[in-house]
Amino acid sequence: MDRRSTAGTRQDRGTRTGAATTVWRAMRCSMRELVVSLVVILVLVEIASVVFALQASRTDPRSLGGGVRIAGAAAASRGWPVTPPSPGPAPDILDVTTTFSARVIDAQALRAGVATHAIEVREFGWPFPVLRDIRFLWPSDNASTAAVAPIETGLRLVPSALLLNPLVVGGLLWLAMLVPLALVLGLRRWIRAMGGRCAACGHQTRGGAVCPECGAAAPSGSMKPHGAR
Ligand SMILES: [Zn+2]
Repeated sequence: MDRRSTAGTRQDRGTRTGAATTVWRAMRCSMRELVVSLVVILVLVEIASVVFALQASRTDPRSLGGGVRIAGAAAASRGWPVTPPSPGPAPDILDVTTTFSARVIDAQALRAGVATHAIEVREFGWPFPVLRDIRFLWPSDNASTAAVAPIETGLRLVPSALLLNPLVVGGLLWLAMLVPLALVLGLRRWIRAMGGRCAACGHQTRGGAVCPECGAAAPSGSMKPHGAR
């Protein structure tokens, strides 16, 4: 009785290991396709991300309204949106406008109600702004520091967003498409292998090492218990 049950357990274990091996083999075969599809999605998302940001940059978000003004001590404590070209006063006013695809921060230091220093940062893109344009109005009192007024960088690519946008959006898209597909395919192969059928085509392997229908390797040992030599 002991021998029988032990043999049975061994057979079960053999079947399971065979099925797992088959599923793993099938998954390894499709690993290349997975990587290729991921790369394709990343490239497409990267292109879409930059095109979307360029499109967004054609509209000034301030024309849509909804901006928030931060003034006085709050503006001073927040500071300039980017590092100023040379030392200067703290900002007195920050006008921040945020939309789905853009953000504009217009920061100014005032003297008698007139802007003496200003930095305007415009950012476009989603989820991370991938295009940025900075304008400095920054006169320097120090003659040894090059006077900068006004300077505009023009629209420039933001390296961190170039990296993150495809990874975040493309990665999620890829997972959203592949997880259900992989689960369904994996489950089907597992069910076939457990039933002693070819994991690739579903044909009965009849205990052979190779599927008589398609030639794929059958779940090894699944039909031959260890004790049946
Ligand atoms: Zn087959």
